[in-house]
Amino acid sequence: MNKHILIVGGGYVGLYTALRLQRKLSRELRAGEVRITIIDPQSYMTYQPFLPEAAAGNLSPRHMVAPLRRVLPKVSILNGRVTKVDHAARTVTFQPAEGAPREVAYDVVVMAAGSISRTLPIPGLTDIGIGFKTVGEAIALRNRVLHLLDVAESTEDPEVRRRALTFVVVGAGFAGVEALAELEDMAKHSTRYYRNIKPSDIRWVLVEATNRVLPEVGPEMGKWTLEQLRERGIDVKLDTRLESCVGGHVVLSDGSEFEAETLVWTAGVKPSPVVADSDLPLDERGRLKTTTKLTLAGTRDAFAAGDAAGVPDVTNPGQYCAPNAQHAVRQAKVLGDNIVRHLRGQELVDYRHKYVGSVAGLGLHQGVANVYGVKLRGFPAWFMHRTYHLSRVPTLNRKVRVVVDWTLALFFKRETISLGEMEHPREGFRAAVATMRR
Ligand SMILES: Cc1cc2nc3c(=O)[nH]c(=O)nc-3n(C[C@H](O)[C@H](O)[C@H](O)COP(=O)(O)OP(=O)(O)OC[C@H]3O[C@@H](n4cnc5c(N)ncnc54)[C@H](O)[C@@H]3O)c2cc1C
Repeated sequence: MNKHILIVGGGYVGLYTALRLQRKLSRELRAGEVRITIIDPQSYMTYQPFLPEAAAGNLSPRHMVAPLRRVLPKVSILNGRVTKVDHAARTVTFQPAEGAPREVAYDVVVMAAGSISRTLPIPGLTDIGIGFKTVGEAIALRNRVLHLLDVAESTEDPEVRRRALTFVVVGAGFAGVEALAELEDMAKHSTRYYRNIKPSDIRWVLVEATNRVLPEVGPEMGKWTLEQLRERGIDVKLDTRLESCVGGHVVLSDGSEFEAETLVWTAGVKPSPVVADSDLPLDERGRLKTTTKLTLAGTRDAFAAGDAAGVPDVTNPGQYCAPNAQHAVRQAKVLGDNIVRHLRGQELVDYRHKYVGSVAGLGLHQGVANVYGVKLRGFPAWFMHRTYHLSRVPTLNRKVRVVVDWTLALFFKRETISLGEMEHPREGFRAAVATMRR
């Protein structure tokens, strides 16, 4: 046996599948009978449920990612993007971070490329919208919110001030509600350092096309979350769609119009585009058509899981597993085991997991949870949210760093500095060169 297992994407599914394979195939890896490669543009796995806490400054962004090369010493990591999968020829086209694309051959492929923001052709969205799926986006948003407080404090123009202090989030699922709640909490806390900004001067608008928020925690807790957000002064607009936002002029389907400097788009996800650039089977929603054994329909040596895959939910016939970390991590374990079984000529097993509910953080000491039917709100839910995610974040190293960050935050006030200049590191130097020319 001399098999090459190629994993496309080093996120939840990619990392946990590789960890499983690294452990279960250790003898074969040592003997050179099996090779494992992960291809991902990043050299780290992002623990996405911690993005809102990183945006709020409760966690260092470095501590919410797991470095692939350190965690997976027996796996080759290639940084770049897979642009095409030709399963008939058992090759992918790999576009490295620098240089010409090349073909990479494999025997077994794991499609774990996750999802991207599902956007709509809304005028102005590409100009001012920002997503909330990556560390870069979370930290840019944090810097932006704090920078706009600086702008509002320093201007004498009421229009500029109002626009700077208006923040819009579109989409009231996990990502939207948690991002908004954490950022609002951070901004409110920060106003104590500004002479001319009161918490009530900052306007937060949550726009949701359906009639509920946070469906992940069920109708009762979703309703409670809605009341909480409204009590905090957040303008939650249900059954409302974003019509346009050209130049920051926001127009909503309920007829309201206002200016906003910031618009965060979290209205759903769709599979990574690489799944369409493949000869692998897709379902009616453009996801990889996956069997209950996490193979791709009609194949024996192509596997998929996570946000990019339409995995049938055997605990709920006729339905698919929702795109969340709870399924992604568990699917990865079964997927890894099924690859081992495939290599050893054994029967594959079904993926079976009944969704147990969810926890969500709504700012410091605030949360909501509905897990195994146990409904919690406020501090107990927030505590559960933190302990649950701490138990889930990969590696002991990261767990310790996260605990240290949280412990420091207990004793010291949180950081409220905008390091937005990091996004333009050469500006100062360019200005210095310009003075020399003069
Ligand atoms: C803000 C936020 C909060 C969340 N909170 C929760 C929560 O509390 N609970 C929960 O259960 N779920 C939560 N989720 C959802 C959860 O994070 C995702 O469902 C999970 O990450 C999916 O895992 P995945 O492996 O399919 O994709 P990902 O973890 O996104 O990994 C995909 C990987 O593929 C890589 N990739 C993409 N395209 C290519 C390509 N062409 N070639 C190579 N590599 C590629 C990407 O760089 C990425 O590393 C949250 C998501 C967000 C954004």
